[in-house]
Amino acid sequence: MDALEMTGRRVFVRVDFNVPLKDGIVQEDTRIRATLPTLKQALDKGAKLVLGSHLGRPKGRRRPELSLAPVAERLSEHLGKPVGFCGETVGDTVDREVGKLANGEMLLLENLRFYPGETDNDADFARRLSTTAELYVNDAFGTAHRAHASTNGMVRHFKQAAAGVLMEKELHYLDMALTDPPHPFTAMLGGAKVSDKIEVVRSLLEKVDRLLIGGGMAYTFLRARGLPTGKSLVEEDKVELAKNLLEEAGEKLVLPLDHIVASKFDAEAEHRVMPISEIPDGWMGLDIGPETVAAYGDQIRAAKMILWNGPMGVFEMEPFAKGTVALAEVIAASDGTSVVGGGDSVAAVHQAGVADRITHISTGGGASLEFLAGEKLPGVEVLTDA
Ligand code: ADP
Ligand code: MG
Repeated sequence: MDALEMTGRRVFVRVDFNVPLKDGIVQEDTRIRATLPTLKQALDKGAKLVLGSHLGRPKGRRRPELSLAPVAERLSEHLGKPVGFCGETVGDTVDREVGKLANGEMLLLENLRFYPGETDNDADFARRLSTTAELYVNDAFGTAHRAHASTNGMVRHFKQAAAGVLMEKELHYLDMALTDPPHPFTAMLGGAKVSDKIEVVRSLLEKVDRLLIGGGMAYTFLRARGLPTGKSLVEEDKVELAKNLLEEAGEKLVLPLDHIVASKFDAEAEHRVMPISEIPDGWMGLDIGPETVAAYGDQIRAAKMILWNGPMGVFEMEPFAKGTVALAEVIAASDGTSVVGGGDSVAAVHQAGVADRITHISTGGGASLEFLAGEKLPGVEVLTDA
């Protein structure tokens, strides 16, 4: 983005303003704040900004409750200057409003997904979007894994396209993990399902020194080891795959030593710490135990780079949050480069109160997983081409 000559030029910035709304009020504005560096830089350079975003899943129809109008207001508060809002996304009204922009002014367009052409990556919709500007900047890492009109199709119409500040930061840290990680490099993966992350496990096993497994996904691996798993989350159809991965990975792939088992999936359930080889019939494992926290903590403390995706337990319930919170604290205290991705993991980092001590918190759950799995992101590839 630094390389673009923006003064007096119309710049389309694809932002991610997909924030939670309730009764027309923005409930949480992390994503709005995350784009401020990009927007400020462009405004300081005297660009005329045209902002495009999606919000929710309107499925190609105009849904007033998913209008971006409240977002324009909130953005305006953060920037301390007016943010124009246009009730349309493409067409004559848009062209007229954009034409009125002076240097350093901006206009937010209505929800891109009110038009089916957005998610269809429709050629005509993409072309019409592209006529709003002379330069293109993508700062919406969270949708970079989707080939939509605003992230992919329209970009082909620009001679120059660039990554915004946030996008660049995301790519910098995730790319570091895959191409040039400082060693020891430890990854910690958890969350609900193995099937969501199997490609990430595969890809990371080639890069890391240690891959620590926790959360629900540990149980498919434990079953593959022949251990009893009770009613824990096991994906039967992935047990064979887990077996192969364990064999290939050897001691790189690390499983929990102990766990917190509960009589049912309930915050009030009876629960206790047990060695990983034990679980009462009909009970389920809902968190890693203290020995595992200590062992994983040692690996994290020794690492120069740490990548974490997926909670170590059902952290939404207080009795099963200890493992996740304790290791979030260890990651935060580490001198190494720490990168955390995934919606729930990021929520856990905030719950633990350590967000400001993480090197990079990824804003894109799905996009970061696809990137880490080694896939090309259509929203990034097209920038590279430009
Ligand atoms: P992220 O959003 O960080 O990528 P996931 O969506 O993959 O993470 O997984 C998060 C979910 O996994 C949480 O809702 C959490 O309660 C659940 N989870 C973690 N450990 C377990 C477990 N042992 N059993 C069942 N669910 C679990
Ligand atoms: Mg999640």
